[in-house]
Amino acid sequence: MTDLAADASPTTDTAPPAPVLVVIDRARAGARGEGPGWHVADATEPTVNVVDLGVTRGDGIFEAFGVVDGAVQALEPHLRRLARSAALLDLPDLDLDLIREAVLASAAAHAPVPFALTKLIVTRGLEGVPDSEPTAWARTEVYEDHAAERRDGIRVVALDRGYRHDVAQTSPWLLQGAKTLSYAVNKSVLREAARRGADDVLFVSSDGYALEGPSASLVARFGDRFVTPRTDQGILEGTTQAAVFDALADLGHETAYELLPLARVHEADALWLLSSGRQIAPVSDLDGRPFAIDHDLTTSLVEALWARRD
Ligand code: PLP
Repeated sequence: MTDLAADASPTTDTAPPAPVLVVIDRARAGARGEGPGWHVADATEPTVNVVDLGVTRGDGIFEAFGVVDGAVQALEPHLRRLARSAALLDLPDLDLDLIREAVLASAAAHAPVPFALTKLIVTRGLEGVPDSEPTAWARTEVYEDHAAERRDGIRVVALDRGYRHDVAQTSPWLLQGAKTLSYAVNKSVLREAARRGADDVLFVSSDGYALEGPSASLVARFGDRFVTPRTDQGILEGTTQAAVFDALADLGHETAYELLPLARVHEADALWLLSSGRQIAPVSDLDGRPFAIDHDLTTSLVEALWARRD
């Protein structure tokens, strides 16, 4: 993440607004004690211990909440996913009420902007400290507008993730399907995409099923039917994809969760990658094949997302 903190002086026409950091004092369920359980910290100061397992091992989990005109999107689905990730990593049960308060406080304290992102991080705590409390914070910062990608689409390449589609059942210790802090691979594949002249990636299982992007869910349109890969394949349950499916159902379209062989995705009428940050990005090209962009539908779905207040 870029360091906006360096420009964190009062808002001007040129300087981005300062990020807001809310540190959660004790994120473990039942450990809150007296007081609010969180405090606002100086986002320009270092706050993480160098022996934090989130830093030394990438051992922790996170969520990224879109904030539209000050309203946190899909708050409860994100919190449910956080709890699922915590369970997969054998982290302690988390105080979700406290975490909700911290996320809302961080977003509310940010200067008004059309779009911001609140990142909620929970790590296993400090290395070498028995029964260490998890380290947790929520940090909100302004998020760049992706209007050009919504308009022009993105070029995507399919890359083998190296696991079968049933990895979550056969090898749950690989943590596929948890939103962990170990995103080095999710970033590495973007560099590989760039080397191949593309903007983003669609992960494919070693047995040929389309999965998800490194930070996005896939939705494919086949006629009037919209399909996303089944979420029991070691992929995340996308909060944006779920909200888009609600919007599509409201528009009278059929939606489904299915196993999608990559060859079938290549036959789709249209494709989108969906995520809390970029929201909706139509795919203009997959593996060198052009895909039509449905501008009207993309606009309707973005408007539906931004109108949601849940
Ligand atoms: N899949 C992965 C691997 C992600 O990292 C993300 C979000 O960052 C998504 C899917 C999309 O999830 P959401 O729409 O909840 O942001």
